[in-house]
Amino acid sequence: MNQIIEQINPVLSAWNKRPLIISGPCSAETEEQILATAHRLAATGKVDMLRAGIWKPRTRPGQFEGVGTIGLPWLAKAKQQTGLPFTIEIATAKQVEDALSFGVDALWIGARTTVNPFSVQEIADALRGVNIPILIKNPINPDLDLWTGAVERVAKAGIKNIGLIHRGFSSYGNTAYRNAPMWHLAIEMKRRNPDMLFICDPSHICGRRDILLEISQKSIDLDYNGLMIESHIDPDNAWSDAMQQITPEVFGELIGKIIWRKENTDNTILLTSMEELRRQIDQLDDELMQILSERMKVADKIGIYKKENNITILQTIRWNEILQRGIVRCEQLGLSKDFIIKYFDAVHMESINHQNNVMNS
Ligand code: PEP
Ligand code: MN
Repeated sequence: MNQIIEQINPVLSAWNKRPLIISGPCSAETEEQILATAHRLAATGKVDMLRAGIWKPRTRPGQFEGVGTIGLPWLAKAKQQTGLPFTIEIATAKQVEDALSFGVDALWIGARTTVNPFSVQEIADALRGVNIPILIKNPINPDLDLWTGAVERVAKAGIKNIGLIHRGFSSYGNTAYRNAPMWHLAIEMKRRNPDMLFICDPSHICGRRDILLEISQKSIDLDYNGLMIESHIDPDNAWSDAMQQITPEVFGELIGKIIWRKENTDNTILLTSMEELRRQIDQLDDELMQILSERMKVADKIGIYKKENNITILQTIRWNEILQRGIVRCEQLGLSKDFIIKYFDAVHMESINHQNNVMNS
């Protein structure tokens, strides 16, 4: 074990780097593929860590399920030749043990594993006394407690360096994304864990190449600390996730196009103007809340009439009217239809709750 711990020091400098950029194929396929990918990625000068899936948790049986343990020495060799530390996904105690025996620099828990507390606990137990960083992907379902639970299990095993990977959430039916980003959930997770490395996996959010840059940039604009992007020497013929992979060279160009932003600035003139604008925002938020409170008082009065005349709280025709008015007005006001629908939904629910209280008091 000590030997392994000695090997990890290079990774800690990569780990502490912001942004931390990880790239490599969805799956390790052959030794030649891993070595070629590593060399071409290293040549871009834009990557800090190599990734590859060795054991692939596939949704349906019969798909390529990973090369298994024979792929580990390929990654160790790639590291030796390029100096790039490497990270892989693990889902069982045995996989943790095998990965450690080949000097893996960081491990990640995949989205399909984060959902299962038994599996996460098994991994956490296997990690006791191990001193490498552990990245935890969000669970496939939008459940922050499940994600937090996985973090707690790994932290309780004594792991000091834990990072979070936002890879989007599964949803039913066709959407623009393979996994809906649900940015608000990721932002809340980041708020709860302000000191944890927080990185975005645009590949699994997008499921396709053409919007990788847009999603990567969005995450950086939201102050994420890094990216994990899948790359392949022959993306169209990749054995898994072919549609979302890009060549190492395209990866290099993509990283080059990202505008990196920092959370803060030392520029005092800018800070003063920002402070003034923020005061205005606080003031407007206060006014908005005051107006909403007035609105609910009116709803309470309507509730009294409804109670006295035995009328239902929900009146679909009226609700449609409110929504339609909002949709027409929002355009003139420069507000998106999406936002206005969410806003009226929330206001309407609050109104219903108020009237419920009136009706049942
Ligand atoms: C992967 O990184 O290749 C992978 C399987 O990701 P996820 O766990 O996010 O589906
Ligand atoms: Mn993948």
